[in-house]
Amino acid sequence: NELAARTYVNEVYDTVIKRNPHESEFHQAIKEILFSLVPVFAKHPKYMQAGILERIVEPERMITFRVPWVDDQGKVQVNRGFRVQFNSVLGPYKGGLRFHPSVNASIIKFLGFEQIFKNSLTGQPIGGGKGGSDFDPKGKSDGEIMRFTQSFMTELFKYIGPDTDVPAGDIGVGAREIGYMFGQYRRIRGGNEAGVLTGKGIGYGGSLTRTEATGYGTVYFVEEMLKSIGLSFEDSTVVISGSGNVSLYAIQKATQLGAKVLACSDSNGYVYDPDGIKFETVKQIKEVERKRISEYVKEHPNAEYHEGCEGIWTIPCDIALPCATQNEISEASAKLLVANGVKAVGEGANMPSTLEAIDVFLANKVLFGPAKAANAGGVAVSALEMAQNSMRYSWSFHEVDDKLHAIMKNIYRSSVQAAEEYGQPGNLLVGANIAGFTKVADAMLAQGII
Ligand code: GLU
Repeated sequence: NELAARTYVNEVYDTVIKRNPHESEFHQAIKEILFSLVPVFAKHPKYMQAGILERIVEPERMITFRVPWVDDQGKVQVNRGFRVQFNSVLGPYKGGLRFHPSVNASIIKFLGFEQIFKNSLTGQPIGGGKGGSDFDPKGKSDGEIMRFTQSFMTELFKYIGPDTDVPAGDIGVGAREIGYMFGQYRRIRGGNEAGVLTGKGIGYGGSLTRTEATGYGTVYFVEEMLKSIGLSFEDSTVVISGSGNVSLYAIQKATQLGAKVLACSDSNGYVYDPDGIKFETVKQIKEVERKRISEYVKEHPNAEYHEGCEGIWTIPCDIALPCATQNEISEASAKLLVANGVKAVGEGANMPSTLEAIDVFLANKVLFGPAKAANAGGVAVSALEMAQNSMRYSWSFHEVDDKLHAIMKNIYRSSVQAAEEYGQPGNLLVGANIAGFTKVADAMLAQGII
């Protein structure tokens, strides 16, 4: 059975590589999940017989479109828009939109594929999707951002809806962009389908705690991992890469729990503050002024700024929370973190550790919280936002925060259980993949060949 399962996974993997040439990020995400599922196919050949894997690696739909807009100089610009509707067996497609120059089909497919299993882990009725554009928001005026997002929505609206596909934010897409997109969607469609987007402003259908949810959720997840070996955030040192929405609220929650956050970063470099990174300063620089993180040292003269963002992993710490972007921790950085005594790594970003870096963490018994489990808090609260929109009602900050906390504990528990059941106790990567996968696979079995 084991051999048949391995052969099956190898065959599907080869097909994916052939069918999606030059898509290295997508291949990486596929590889990380597929090979951890061998024990599942060995134990339950029914999934092989029903061709679950062949079907799951192929998106239900991939939409690519032109996004024309006019810049402040009056020049016509064209970007490419994407939406992958990967899997809807558990519910409407759900997943963010990323605006970043690196966005291409490979990035969108890796993110959409991950999202299927992440969303499944939350226990909420949501399928997997993702989208975005190669538009670079850096240095753009507010007017340019608005014209671009309106044009983007003028095409995207055809494919989304509160019961079909519900986008949200990701890198480069925050409350401002969601607001402009929601306005444009309403203008085109008429009526008020609040549940078509999540991450909306609180005044028009947004959920309290959604802004904080991904960062808080990552810290709640890591708290559970630490508890299992008798540790906590209290008096620990933490390095948190990034300074966007995920990073910011991870900084806040880790600090509230008594940790000292030593550093954070942006795509230009990182700041090290021996007195502990101040949440308010980072929030002011990144969210209000929309400037670079190097500004931080003007406020806090004890802090140092260093060019280059991967250098952040040279700082010795107890806990590392990569919250910036994919492949930000190389094998060399992972080795350095281990040599410097890191005890836990929690992935706030999507796929921030390379496959080689993950191997280093696992081989050295570092507690490792994989992205699809550790950063599921954002999308989990998005699903709670959809629920509130359907009820035309809103919960308090504490009600949502309590639900988020319970969801993160539950994801931890089901990942631990699945890892044990399939003979790899303590391996949360394998556990999260299996727990996320089996729920989707069972639903696909129940719904026939679709
Ligand atoms: N972009 C986030 C993620 O990677 C959130 C998606 C959502 O809320 O739909 O999970």
